Amino acid sequence: ELNAKILDMQGSIRVLCRLRPLQEAEVLVIERGKEYEDPMANITYPDVDRLTFWGVPYQFDYVFGPGTKQAQVFDEVQPMVASALEGYRVCVFAYGQTGSGKTYTMEGPKSDRGVNFRALGELFSLSNQDHTKEFQFRVSMLEVYNESIKDLFVEPGRPAAAANKHDVRLDKKGRVYVEGLVECEVETLEEVEELVVLGGRNRTVGNNNVNEHSSRSHLVLQVHITSTDVATGYVQHGKLNLIDLAGSERIKSTAAEGQQLKEAQNINRSLSALGDVINSLGSGSKHVPYRNSKLTFLLQDSLSSNAKVLMFVNINPAPQSQGESSCSLNFAKRCR
Ligand code: ADP
Ligand code: MG
Repeated sequence: ELNAKILDMQGSIRVLCRLRPLQEAEVLVIERGKEYEDPMANITYPDVDRLTFWGVPYQFDYVFGPGTKQAQVFDEVQPMVASALEGYRVCVFAYGQTGSGKTYTMEGPKSDRGVNFRALGELFSLSNQDHTKEFQFRVSMLEVYNESIKDLFVEPGRPAAAANKHDVRLDKKGRVYVEGLVECEVETLEEVEELVVLGGRNRTVGNNNVNEHSSRSHLVLQVHITSTDVATGYVQHGKLNLIDLAGSERIKSTAAEGQQLKEAQNINRSLSALGDVINSLGSGSKHVPYRNSKLTFLLQDSLSSNAKVLMFVNINPAPQSQGESSCSLNFAKRCR
């Protein structure tokens, strides 16, 4: 029975690799350097679940080549979304160095939406088809930066923002909540869209380098799902966490000082804590080290043995990024 349980847990962690297309500038640099005739020659993906990266073989649950459409990527996420509606707690992460396609995968351009928007659309459409239950959706949006939580639905500088420290707490049933975090009830995709735009705007206030900041912090979009069985009154709580992680690139601690060094250390710490937690879940270990970072503590009830985890490892296939890409692939391999 225990073995079956462990197998089941392993089955609930899925790792998907996504290679983004090379950009014109990257191809140009390569051509000028004349180092690589075909910049993609050392990256092959002969099967849907296999990748050979500069001679090193990897196996993941799926490998998406650079031409993969957003809709095709979402097809692999859809079952996770359906599970959240059934009362599971689900995490979808995008992991990778800055510029590897995390935000493209999760958020996507307005003209070609990524996972977040499609997932919310799927939640609304599936819930409308199910007449046996009544659903309620509440959304929150937060950022984890330097081991502290910022509520993105509260405008920075407002007294409410300063007053709340947003500590992570556990209720009597072991469910995580964030003290004082705003949760907005939503019924349509348009409402979600408006909120996400607002959250994004709050994220940039007071940051002179917006891109820099967003790559140094974790962005978490949470959907709290309450379903009530119409016939029995039975209530279930599902949760869908959609997470665009901070850039995984290693910052040479000798080059960074002060604030930058602190940021880098906090990112390293939280990403390796995340790897440790997922790893110990996959191996069926009794002790799961949630408390080593704010991110894993925040997500602990969605990173438990009966939760479902999907990890995107986003890869920039440019030869210049080979080192960082290898690190990302090895992180992902450890998660599986
Ligand atoms: P990250 O969030 O990991 O820093 P981005 O998602 O911002 O990376 O992607 C970096 C650049 O590559 C952006 O200009 C983005 O539009 C582009 N890009 C990423 N993935 C894809 C993709 N699958 N198809 C087309 N362009 C992509
Ligand atoms: Mg990004």
